[in-house]
Amino acid sequence: MNSLASVGNKAIAPKLITYPIVETFHSIQGEGTWTGMSAFFIRLAGCDVHCPWCDQKESWTSHIYPQQSVQMLAQTAKAANPAMVVITGGEPLLYNLFPLTKALQKLGLRVHLETSGAHPFSGQFDWVTFSPKPFQVPHESIYSQVNELKVIIATEEDLHWAEEQAEKVPAEVIKYLQPEWNHPDSQSLIFDYILDHPQWRMSLQIHKFLGVR
Ligand code: SF4
Repeated sequence: MNSLASVGNKAIAPKLITYPIVETFHSIQGEGTWTGMSAFFIRLAGCDVHCPWCDQKESWTSHIYPQQSVQMLAQTAKAANPAMVVITGGEPLLYNLFPLTKALQKLGLRVHLETSGAHPFSGQFDWVTFSPKPFQVPHESIYSQVNELKVIIATEEDLHWAEEQAEKVPAEVIKYLQPEWNHPDSQSLIFDYILDHPQWRMSLQIHKFLGVR
């Protein structure tokens, strides 16, 4: 992202600040509390968490993607008329998200974040989905910001990670276990676990069942 401060001696207007963008698209939210609702996705490029089962590996390298300005992103999102804008990645907290979130909210849009929390928190959001990964310990600044905790479960070990993370978020946070798509056994693992641990809910990626993005 361009610096807020200056290029040479000239300050950059917030609307001209840019981010590397893998894609933007209008779909339905497929996961968590807002499942089934109209959502415009902004997928930022760049991630250093490197989960082995990541389904967005093509997003890891930021410099191969074009930069888009805050102004362009906000206008495109507004034109889609979604129920919410979801800023995702990659790992969006690699960047200062204040300029983008402010511009979206100024247009009356509801703004959500999906993050692993691996970097310091930035931006102003209407909803924060925290999906911590054991491959890079989350930054402490995320825990007070979370609305829903969504832990991806591939193996039984991940359930321990989920419980560790659940202890660190506020009590009212909604807690989801989501099967890792390429580990079909994880569905029954979660099913059985939730019967014994009623504080958890299951989240399914309905966009994958529907065959849409
Ligand atoms: S944090 Fe997300 S984008 Fe990054 S490697 Fe893990 S699943 Fe992929």
